[in-house]
Amino acid sequence: MPMLLPSIFEVWREGLAVPSQVERANFRASRNRRGLSGAVCIKMDDSFYMRRCVEIAKKAIGCTSPNPMVGCVIVKDGEIVGQGFHPKAGQPHAEVFALRDAGKLAENATAYVSLEPCNHYGRTPPCTEALINAKIKQVIIGMVDPNPIVASKGVEKLKASGIDVIVGVEEMLCQKLNEAYIHRMHTGKPFVTLRYSLSFDGRLLNHLGRGADQPGGYYSKLAQEYDGFVVSSGFLTGASAPPISLEPGASQPLHIIIARNMTSLHLPSAIADSSSRTVVIAEKSIHVEPKSEKVEIVFLEQMNLNSVLDYCGRRGLCSLVLDIRDDDGLELLEEGFVQKVVMELCPVWSGRREASLPFLGMKQRELKDLRLEVANESVLVEGYFS
Ligand SMILES: [Zn+2]
Repeated sequence: MPMLLPSIFEVWREGLAVPSQVERANFRASRNRRGLSGAVCIKMDDSFYMRRCVEIAKKAIGCTSPNPMVGCVIVKDGEIVGQGFHPKAGQPHAEVFALRDAGKLAENATAYVSLEPCNHYGRTPPCTEALINAKIKQVIIGMVDPNPIVASKGVEKLKASGIDVIVGVEEMLCQKLNEAYIHRMHTGKPFVTLRYSLSFDGRLLNHLGRGADQPGGYYSKLAQEYDGFVVSSGFLTGASAPPISLEPGASQPLHIIIARNMTSLHLPSAIADSSSRTVVIAEKSIHVEPKSEKVEIVFLEQMNLNSVLDYCGRRGLCSLVLDIRDDDGLELLEEGFVQKVVMELCPVWSGRREASLPFLGMKQRELKDLRLEVANESVLVEGYFS
């Protein structure tokens, strides 16, 4: 790797963060995946600018669905001269904001963008055109867009216009940013995260850990990030916090209540009075109180996770939390429909006798990409089904 060290020094000289061992390993892995060896085609600081793209894209967490989050940075002579992110579906894409920010300095500059620029007329003109018209010299892309109407067409258009294009810088980071969007593009179904809290003696708890639903708490952040929260009707009888985000400016998730074998349902004021919309999914006629314009009732002939996900997908939801607070919710679990698990271990001994976690619908499976965090007094563990 004769060319790697000078690049690292270059990053250091510019006062940017010195790459860590993990970043160097990612860089090498990225090169290997793309079959690069010997001559180095990616400068070390490409990773830095791509991470910056991801960072600014996250300013729109919870606001872009069904679109992905995207960030763009324009760099000229080693300096960031423009940056932008996609704030909301229907509004201009990240590249447009970054090019506007850069103005004439965009000419002969390098554009870093976390997701492949679009090449089609949607609600906004194609970003490839904007980049070409701005006379950008090089475009460095985090990942190809899995959306079939974009997939690789943006890259092809840029290359055909004589622009130098590199794909796959910090690819895993860019994929993680839009895991729900990517899953929905590949499967047509929303990305599902199973969430629950456990006591130290392994029993399911019907409450959250201290601070979880407060600003900055993991539950408040999940409610900001995800399009919808699916809860069972039994959840409503407990003194549980409703799925609401207290993050500044957060858009609230849709509340999806599974009303199984019920003829009437009384919504707690915390749900009925919240700014979120609520959908009650029932199998047969049900009386729901209090009546509100924000509460809809939907009937599904077959009440299972597959039909609930199909309904949510048709409604345009990309991501759902399956929020399990009681045994009733466990009946919803089915093989193959859950992608991620967030488990909160609370510092409580429940002393309850019942069997723990009868997740009947799931077979033995391994989890990968584990992450562990101590949040207030609880331990948070997340992992993905492979
Ligand atoms: Zn675009």
